[in-house]
Amino acid sequence: MDKQATKVILTEKEMPTSWYNIQADLPEPLPPLRHPGTKEITRLPPPLFAGALDEQEFSKERYIEIPEEVQEIYKMWRPTPMIRAFRLEKALDTPAHIYYKYEGVSPAGSHKLNTAVAQAYYNKKEGIKRLATETGAGQWGSALSMACKFFGLECKVYMVKVSYHQKPYRRVLMETFGAKVVPSPSQDTQVGRKILEEDPNSTGSLGIAISEACEDAFGRDDTHYSLGSVVNHVLLHQTVVGQESKKQLEKIGVYPDIIVGCIGGGSNFGGMLLPFVKDKIEKKKPKLQIICVEPTACPTVTKGIYAWDYGDVAGMAPIALMYTLGHSFVPPPVHAGGLRYHGMAPIICHLHRLGFIEARAVNQIATFQAAVQFAQAEGIIPAPEPAHAIKVVIDEALKCKQSGEKKNILLALSGHGHFDLGAYEKYLAGQLEDYEYPKEKVEEALKQLPKIPA
Ligand SMILES: *Cc1c(COP(=O)(O)O)cnc(C)c1O
Repeated sequence: MDKQATKVILTEKEMPTSWYNIQADLPEPLPPLRHPGTKEITRLPPPLFAGALDEQEFSKERYIEIPEEVQEIYKMWRPTPMIRAFRLEKALDTPAHIYYKYEGVSPAGSHKLNTAVAQAYYNKKEGIKRLATETGAGQWGSALSMACKFFGLECKVYMVKVSYHQKPYRRVLMETFGAKVVPSPSQDTQVGRKILEEDPNSTGSLGIAISEACEDAFGRDDTHYSLGSVVNHVLLHQTVVGQESKKQLEKIGVYPDIIVGCIGGGSNFGGMLLPFVKDKIEKKKPKLQIICVEPTACPTVTKGIYAWDYGDVAGMAPIALMYTLGHSFVPPPVHAGGLRYHGMAPIICHLHRLGFIEARAVNQIATFQAAVQFAQAEGIIPAPEPAHAIKVVIDEALKCKQSGEKKNILLALSGHGHFDLGAYEKYLAGQLEDYEYPKEKVEEALKQLPKIPA
């Protein structure tokens, strides 16, 4: 048991061979999904999703085997390293031990490839030729483009227009993997054309891009839709992260006191925490503190309402019971750090409501300060998304300095920020502003929620 280890690397043989399904262990079942038209309880609509993914979405089986072909691809970069942030601890002069699980070593630069590979595999197996999807900052589009190429599928990406112009290199990356990328709203769908007619300068949103990708998939028999976060099967695929983390910390005799991750749709955080929250549900680790972090500019869990809402702007995606800022939410253009979705993974919302996890919102200047401090200590430039979590890790480590407690803090470091240097440039030039999403806007959005009969 060497707690002084700088990093813990697992061998390929130690990689998990199953995904962990939290639905087997929830003290109360998840609320169902509802059909956007009829409002009745529904499965994932078959014109959009592979049957295997629909099955996983509602499965109660505790462990679901990872197909061999998927494991083989995972092995190109998995297991990912667990690293002790010695230099950050020293810079903070804290008695806390900080560990980070680094998903930035994947070829796409983030955790998203974990589900992209699985989704491409199941769709290919069911005879699908083409996947349509949306992407915001571009990480999901990059991951899915690569996964599609590996399995010989075509890939069409609707990229939120503001990112399409701000992040040309992400687009080039997707195109290099053979994907077709268009700025959303686009002329390629009815939804896109309608929005452009009403507002030719629309900068787009994830909700709009999701509607476009859904319309694309509804319209073609050879095409399915693919989602990079939020839904249960995506969080399921991400549990390789938490399972590996548990094993790695066990090897050095450590169990975390605090787990911190950022939430956009909830998938990297879910992947990390779900294998651990099981111990909390089973009362083996009642004191384990699990904290999700979001931007004050898109405060879904800390300020949103818990309600039935559409997953997209046009009301084509299923309706879920979740925290939401309203499906018409358009993020403030001053916000540079990703994590812009109006809703949140129902699994994360449910666990929050049951009291197993807590949520915090942080401002973007403090977030980039934390990111730079982390980069200067550890040498890794974090993606702006996990930088939100880094801010809270630093806060918690400084609390330990005050109290003298030697807590073990585990950070989900979901990806690197090599394609986000534009945001860093703005921060370094002093051009970022803090922004608090106003409560009144959330209340306004209430009016547009779908009416669900009690
Ligand atoms: C997409 C992304 C996120 C946010 O999405 P989640 O589903 O909440 O994980 C966070 N970090 C990175 C690096 C991402 O690419």
